[in-house]
Amino acid sequence: MDQKINRNEVEKRVRELNNLLKEYGHAYYVLDKPVVPDSVYDQHMQELLAIEAEHPDLIFPDSPSQRVGGEILSNFSKVVHEFPMLSLSNVFNEEDIRDFDRRVQAGAGHSITYICELKIDGLAVSLKYEKGNFIQGSTRGDGTIGEDITANLKTIHAIPLKLSEPITIEVRGEAYMPKKSFIKLNEMRDENGEEPFANPRNAAAGSLRQLDPKIAASRNLSVFIYGIGGDGSAYGQDSHSDSLDYLATLGFKTNTGSKRCSSIEEVIEYIESWQERRQDLDYEIDGIVIKVDGYEDQEQLGFTARSPRWATAYKFPAEEVHTKLLDIELSVGRTGVVTPTAILEPVRVAGTTVARASLHNEDLIREKDIRIGDAVIIRKAGILSRKSSVFSLNNGQEWKNLTKCPIIARYVIPSLSGLMEK
Ligand code: NAD
Repeated sequence: MDQKINRNEVEKRVRELNNLLKEYGHAYYVLDKPVVPDSVYDQHMQELLAIEAEHPDLIFPDSPSQRVGGEILSNFSKVVHEFPMLSLSNVFNEEDIRDFDRRVQAGAGHSITYICELKIDGLAVSLKYEKGNFIQGSTRGDGTIGEDITANLKTIHAIPLKLSEPITIEVRGEAYMPKKSFIKLNEMRDENGEEPFANPRNAAAGSLRQLDPKIAASRNLSVFIYGIGGDGSAYGQDSHSDSLDYLATLGFKTNTGSKRCSSIEEVIEYIESWQERRQDLDYEIDGIVIKVDGYEDQEQLGFTARSPRWATAYKFPAEEVHTKLLDIELSVGRTGVVTPTAILEPVRVAGTTVARASLHNEDLIREKDIRIGDAVIIRKAGILSRKSSVFSLNNGQEWKNLTKCPIIARYVIPSLSGLMEK
């Protein structure tokens, strides 16, 4: 009897997670307007994956864990991908990385050389060339069918319209909006009374899914090409790293940050070094992609329905997390100025525990109607300004109602003195 109750509860939670993830996914992939931070989505997905691993019979065919991306916007012609455009599995800590290494070595039967790449936070695109000429570009869509965004992609200067060799090839890459362009775009939108984009990824996706290519052209987008679609060995390449060199000689913009690593220790060192330096880049990265370098090994390891077994994405610690405003503390400075400080339910953000944040002054509290008990979003901002932080509030809302709030009613407080560590 008890077992049955437990089982019913597990199933109820699985359905709840399915629904929540579908709702978040629709807002993120289809509307380009996320309603929760990525960390919240990731936490829910990890919870679902853990339950599904224990109860495989609760993996519904339409579970978000079984599919890639979102639905396709009907305003665009559809493109059927010759080779599926998959997602990547995620790892979040050193233990996960070592587990991935163990699985890969066991699958390949020998030690492995990896190639590590920056995980550009943009939008996956596929570019097709016939006899060296760019003929079609599309989004990932649901992995099988994407949207034809050729006209918009043609406005990106980093995409060559003609290659250095007259070959027929499909390449995959990430279109992105540089941080500077993102700041400028949001400033302009603010001046025009338009809603700002949540982050450069959504700004890039929103720009490329506009029907008028003039809009995409004005958004100063760029692209990094990270692979050949389908079989790279058909182009005489033996490994992913060789393919990256070859793509560069064809005229593609590849990322120079990638590195071959002959052990998992080297992979971990690479991750650590980029975790510290990521803010220096002029584009956003949300992690590191670890790929098995050799094509023979890749082939042996194969794919799941959703992602290759020979690659995974290490996600950097969340820079945007949710928590609760527990109290507001007032302190009186030497000059008599009263400064309010938010006392928060301690939460890990960007690798540090945050329990307090400055609320600047009393007027701001009144203006934003900040109340004790509010659900809040804390974001360690590297984009808006190094020193500022974004403190978003959705007054009086329960977390489960968050999806109903327009991009979580984000308030950007540039003068906020920054997150204070506990
Ligand atoms: P993913 O972003 O974890 O990884 C796959 C993607 O990485 C590829 O499709 C490709 O576009 C990209 N990529 C960047 N650099 C790459 C490189 N060098 N090599 C290979 N690929 C590279 O998976 P996903 O399926 O695109 O999205 C899932 C993620 O999106 C989640 O982890 C979550 O953070 C975010 N998401 C957020 C919400 C939300 O509501 N905030 C909703 C859905 C998804």
